[in-house]
Amino acid sequence: MSLSDLSPDALAALHSEQTTAYAALVDRGLKLDLTRGKPAPAQLDLSNALLTLPGAGEYTAADGTDCRNYGGGQGLPEIREIFAELLNVPVAQLVAGDNASLGVMHDTLVFSLLKGTVDSAGPWVKEPITFLCPVPGYDRHFALCEQFGITMEPVALGPDGPDLEAIRSRVADDPSVRGIWIVPTYANPTGSVYTEEVTRELVSMPTAAPDFRIFWDNAYAVHHLTDAEHPALDVLGLAAEAGNPNRVFVFASTSKITFAGAGVSFFAGSPANVSWYLQHLGKRTIGPDKVNHLRHARYLGSADGVRELMRKHRAIIEPKFAQVETILQSRLGDHEVATWTRPEGGYFISLDVPDGCATRVVALAKEAGIAMTAAGAAFPYGSDPRDRNIRIAPTFPSPDDVAAAIEGLCTCVLLASAEQQQAAG
Ligand code: PMP
Repeated sequence: MSLSDLSPDALAALHSEQTTAYAALVDRGLKLDLTRGKPAPAQLDLSNALLTLPGAGEYTAADGTDCRNYGGGQGLPEIREIFAELLNVPVAQLVAGDNASLGVMHDTLVFSLLKGTVDSAGPWVKEPITFLCPVPGYDRHFALCEQFGITMEPVALGPDGPDLEAIRSRVADDPSVRGIWIVPTYANPTGSVYTEEVTRELVSMPTAAPDFRIFWDNAYAVHHLTDAEHPALDVLGLAAEAGNPNRVFVFASTSKITFAGAGVSFFAGSPANVSWYLQHLGKRTIGPDKVNHLRHARYLGSADGVRELMRKHRAIIEPKFAQVETILQSRLGDHEVATWTRPEGGYFISLDVPDGCATRVVALAKEAGIAMTAAGAAFPYGSDPRDRNIRIAPTFPSPDDVAAAIEGLCTCVLLASAEQQQAAG
């Protein structure tokens, strides 16, 4: 039954019950962290073979490249072949880089700001720039925009994509709207999966700016949690078909496939965008870490090798997601105080508590030793207009710690909701 339907006595009883439960929670002196979507040590262990690859005397790529030396700006063909298949992009249009796709996004943004894109009249930075931000979204995307003075406008995100009507009207009317952040597969934090229909709309809608760009961050392309295994869409092909071949910049990495701090990043785009990117990248570096490309290619072997590895990741993290679902359902389900996502992949669960309660819930949790991502973090400027969204990242802690943290979090949600309802009543 919803809290607003409880009698004043029943509400007071719930409040007192949760106050006692919260005091007991604080007394436990927990020290738990559900803040960032990091792989658990057991997941990193899956790829420990990388620590001894490519191995003594092994530094020659299939095409004879000496991986120890400078050069090869586009990255080794053998690693690009594997990920071209998984990301559904042509090998010739895929660049393999160093360890962080966030760095690739940063560079792409900076190149656009300082030099303009292939379709720009000049550097973006000369005029006011606006990016559309489906929300809740990835806080580091928003931090990049904030860092460079790009105005952000939130757009509501649903399970299969953002509010297309809102996007259509903004991009059609305002040439300052130059970009949109998209996490197409198992979005952070909602788990949204963009359908082909939504994707077709995004790549084909008329835009006032000729150089409008979709920052298509497919960070979780192969990170399935169910047998549904949503495939990567051929976004570059769809954009070309729609007559907008240069609209999409694709990003990805192996951060949550092999080692989060020592993986391989990827950039893909139209042939013109790839030349543009490589030309600017060539000023920044004389070539990527090809020894890392070689060891990854040898370790992963093929796209099927990656798929097999991802099933091992799933075996480790799926039970943690299941535990979160079970506990949220059993503790909060009857009270109708929250809704949450049931992702089919990725690294996060997005929890919505009553409007105006998220900051209080996160503060209560912190007081009880449970670190949650700051309320509002998944919104531009860290500001959730409804103060209701909380991101849960269950992959890193042990299963017992996940359970203890979510149990504690539920107590905080119930207490904050009862407090609010009492204040309102
Ligand atoms: N994009 C998204 C949507 C992410 O969630 C993350 C990691 N949390 C990243 C990019 C970071 O990727 P990388 O490690 O390749 O920089």
